[in-house]
Amino acid sequence: MRKILIVGAGQSGLQLALGLQSQGYEVTLMSNRTADEIRAGRVMSTQCMFHTALQHERDLALNFWESQAPRIEGLGVSVAAPGSHAEPGGTQRAVDWVGKLDGYAQSVDQRLKMAGWMETFAQRGGQLVIHGAAVSDLDFFASRYDLTLVSAGKGELVSMFARDASRSPYDAPQRALAVAYVHGLGPRPEHPDFDAVRCNLVPGVGELFIMPTLTNSGRADILFWEGIPGGPLDVFAGVRDPNEHLATTLELMERFTPWEYARATKVELTDANGTLAGRYAPTVRKPIGQLPSGGLVLGVADVVVANDPITGQGSNSASKCAASYLASIIGHGDRPFDAEWMQTAFDRYWETAQHVTRWTNAMLAPPPEHVLNLIGAAGELQPVADRFANGFNDPADFDNFFFEAEKAEAYLASLG
Ligand SMILES: Cc1cc2nc3c(=O)[nH]c(=O)nc-3n(C[C@H](O)[C@H](O)[C@H](O)COP(=O)(O)OP(=O)(O)OC[C@H]3O[C@@H](n4cnc5c(N)ncnc54)[C@H](O)[C@@H]3O)c2cc1C
Repeated sequence: MRKILIVGAGQSGLQLALGLQSQGYEVTLMSNRTADEIRAGRVMSTQCMFHTALQHERDLALNFWESQAPRIEGLGVSVAAPGSHAEPGGTQRAVDWVGKLDGYAQSVDQRLKMAGWMETFAQRGGQLVIHGAAVSDLDFFASRYDLTLVSAGKGELVSMFARDASRSPYDAPQRALAVAYVHGLGPRPEHPDFDAVRCNLVPGVGELFIMPTLTNSGRADILFWEGIPGGPLDVFAGVRDPNEHLATTLELMERFTPWEYARATKVELTDANGTLAGRYAPTVRKPIGQLPSGGLVLGVADVVVANDPITGQGSNSASKCAASYLASIIGHGDRPFDAEWMQTAFDRYWETAQHVTRWTNAMLAPPPEHVLNLIGAAGELQPVADRFANGFNDPADFDNFFFEAEKAEAYLASLG
């Protein structure tokens, strides 16, 4: 059977490894951490995944946590009234609505999921190598495999893949990220009967996302600030103490989103590794990397298309990339995995990924008037809220009503 090397055991690498393994491929998976190290390590994401991406996991019978993870049935948006946070506690909401998802979303802490999937891969006879691979390692190993895939996320191995400037409008991080996993968040008074991802937009300052998750200690909620660099939310970089991180998160909530702070007065961290801070520039890369001795490797998911998490798409895209590459690999049969095949496999994935990139990059910029009108209209017209929410599952739909003022106006007019 064909031999495949996968470097990096995250959402895309593990999903692809388990998928290929189930088809009889001989898969070697290289990870820089053991399952136990991942399980006990720092949180990595907020990893909210929508219906299509979850379905790819179900198709491979990898939805091990589906019955335990909270069902996220809606996606809500609140907009702080501009300028009103100048007064302590004075922030009001200019907009507040929740759209219903056609299929529910879920977030399973990647520490739980990746550790569990990695153990499953090994139990099923997969070759698991614990090693932080350098380019020289890949140069040595790749010639022994029919195909080498690099799914190592945003780590150092991306240096093998050239930045695609034509598809990367930003060359610096657009948000400073700060995540805290907590227990004890109160229900949201507007819809206590169902869970939703809540996006709180604070114009000119940043965004606060809140969503339920399943973590090592059961159900929890994630408080996730995205701050415009240099602004009042960009204060986490030097914070090492997790309790100080949480205290800062809450102070900012009290100041900018008091309606969310009101439910958060009793929260505590899930664990000492339940916080994360960082930033990165959204980047699209050329999909093929060349090794020093001439061999070729194909980049997967974040390695080739890394978007800012403002739209919560990276894990979704990683799942979609893994599903797309799996189909491309199987469909290629016994023919060589040459440069032409690699480019075609990536282009097939880009058909989906380009919509995510376009929408995510747009959300990082100040919204034009027609987008403000759409977000405002969703508070009056439930179909607009629902369509916006379901766009998180299928961002291609935003092409039809979001980017151009004429299309947005025509859509709103069509609703009477
Ligand atoms: C703060 C934050 C919030 C987010 N929220 C969401 C969200 O709500 N929804 C969503 O869909 N996405 C979200 N994302 C994005 C999402 O987490 C990523 O896009 C997704 O995990 C990418 O999957 P991947 O398989 O490409 O890489 P990763 O999940 O990053 O996996 C890469 C793996 O490779 C390993 N590795 C790295 N270098 C090496 C090496 N040299 N050798 C061996 N192994 C290596 C890493 O340790 C890691 O285990 C968020 C990201 C962040 C930072």
